[in-house]
Amino acid sequence: MKVIKTISAMQKYSTHCRKISRSIGFVPTMGALHDGHRALIKADRHTNRIVVVSLFVNPLQFGPREDFQQYPRTLTQDRLFCEKAGADILFVPNGHAMYPDGFQTTVLVGKVTQGYEGQSRPAHFDGVTTVVTKLCHIVAPDRVYFGQKDYQQAIAVKQMLLDLNMPIKMVMRPTVRESDGLAMSSRNTHLKPNERGAATVIYHALKEGGRQIRLGERSGARIRGAIERVLNTEAVVNVDYVGIMHPDTLEEMKKLTGRVVLAIAVYIGKTRLIDNVIVRVPTL
Ligand code: AMP
Repeated sequence: MKVIKTISAMQKYSTHCRKISRSIGFVPTMGALHDGHRALIKADRHTNRIVVVSLFVNPLQFGPREDFQQYPRTLTQDRLFCEKAGADILFVPNGHAMYPDGFQTTVLVGKVTQGYEGQSRPAHFDGVTTVVTKLCHIVAPDRVYFGQKDYQQAIAVKQMLLDLNMPIKMVMRPTVRESDGLAMSSRNTHLKPNERGAATVIYHALKEGGRQIRLGERSGARIRGAIERVLNTEAVVNVDYVGIMHPDTLEEMKKLTGRVVLAIAVYIGKTRLIDNVIVRVPTL
């Protein structure tokens, strides 16, 4: 595996790959890699000739009171991790090269970014879609891989690729979980032991939502209520939102049919965690 640190070297490499018709698959990450990232790298390895992983903690997607400074940075381990997982290239651009003085362009996706994460974290998705656009222009992949854990992010990127005629396919892969159901996240390392214990309630609450749907409940409001009741059994958990949303438009679903995404954002102490499941609504 080769580590590339400059934008120009990365561009040169991807131009060469394209010239000799080698497909490129790309996994953008912020590092502190875990099995969720590994699954994306494996899926990428399965389909593409060249596997590029980027590691960049993107300041643009953090709010002024969010955890940019505290975000875990573990470059030495991440490098080994990528090599073992089967990456060919680890691209690690630096902040100043990505956003030099005078940088002034933002890529802003509309409706699908406005609710849920977009409402709780203003400008977050503008930062995400701006950096993904830049990285995709630099890496020039055929496919880009995202995790279902950040469902709204994956949909926003998909919309952006479509709207901007970027010839790249967005591939979404399932959420990888700890054995007790907690979705793997770089932020889980911030949880104190009692908070880590309480965090399992997130997945239990999502499962309860799915169970109620399978039992015949079709009211979005009542499913939200059922999910909130489970979350509220843990005193250290503060609910930010519970979303009952359409999988494509992300609009709130009042009456459930087809498929529905149940999404949760909570604060546990100072740590903000998100998770979701997609439920197929049985026809009664
Ligand atoms: P991050 O480094 O947190 O920005 O995440 C990089 C990519 O990994 C994003 O596409 C995430 O959705 C994905 N990801 C993070 N956690 C998981 C997980 N537990 N399972 C699957 N994908 C994940």
